[in-house]
Amino acid sequence: MASALRLRSALALVTGAGSGIGRAVCVRLAQEGATVVACDLNGAAAQETVRLLDGPKSEAGAPGGKHAVFEADVSESRAVRHLLAQVQACFSRPPSVVVSCAGITRDEFLLHLSEKDWDRVLEINLKGVFLVTQVAAQALVASGRPGSIINISSIVGKVGNLGQTNYAASKAGVIGLTQTVAKELGRHGIRCNSVLPGFITTPMTQKVPEKVIDKVTGMIPMGYMGKPEDVADVVAFLASEDSGYITGASVEVTGGLFM
Ligand code: NAP
Repeated sequence: MASALRLRSALALVTGAGSGIGRAVCVRLAQEGATVVACDLNGAAAQETVRLLDGPKSEAGAPGGKHAVFEADVSESRAVRHLLAQVQACFSRPPSVVVSCAGITRDEFLLHLSEKDWDRVLEINLKGVFLVTQVAAQALVASGRPGSIINISSIVGKVGNLGQTNYAASKAGVIGLTQTVAKELGRHGIRCNSVLPGFITTPMTQKVPEKVIDKVTGMIPMGYMGKPEDVADVVAFLASEDSGYITGASVEVTGGLFM
């Protein structure tokens, strides 16, 4: 349940906004009053997300509605710089809340994992978070404004997982990046936290074989997989001043899995 308009002055940039957790985060932040910039590799999917927020008026990059949509590949530094420039041109300020949800899996056991699949997962899941965090932080510091940066890692980044050498390494990297950003930017009033979801029902986990889902679900103390909204609840808290003294934290949203 959303707290009454705790984010009404926030401009929130969300990557991976066209699906799963990113879409739920956009919905939740908008419910709390934030203006949302939805970014995804799949521009049409991000547009669909914004339709859920304020009806069919919002065009990509145009101030037709309250919110905005941009298509960008977070692993491309030029695209990310262009994205921030577009946001600043549209809203005359940098985003005060930045949520990196864009991510992929390319699962394979170590003995068979290709270099290509290693690189692509690291490029999107880790380098993408670096690029988005860096440009947003540069813009915030230049403007002298405070901000809250939230990076979606994974419980797998803490405990590892069969068949996910690349994914686990990328998500562990996100935790280290987040802690370091928290240390460097606290004096600028910029907080940086990571969220570690467990098993959440989204298109990403729909690719996991049913046998594996059943096995993992049996290990979750709460007894069921999480919903994207469970993660969005925590992101909204970390975006708000209710978490004003929390930075560098890794918040697990797992139903107790791997505690
Ligand atoms: P999802 O439904 O697959 O959503 C991921 C979104 O990111 C998709 O819209 C995808 O677009 C987009 N994306 C992929 N590559 C991108 C790029 N280079 N630039 C911009 N956007 C890109 O997955 P999800 O489950 O919501 O996952 C969201 C985040 O939570 C990910 O970082 C994931 O690792 C993390 N997470 C998920 C779970 C879980 O159980 N679901 C658990 C722990 C952590 P396309 O569809 O076009 O590829």
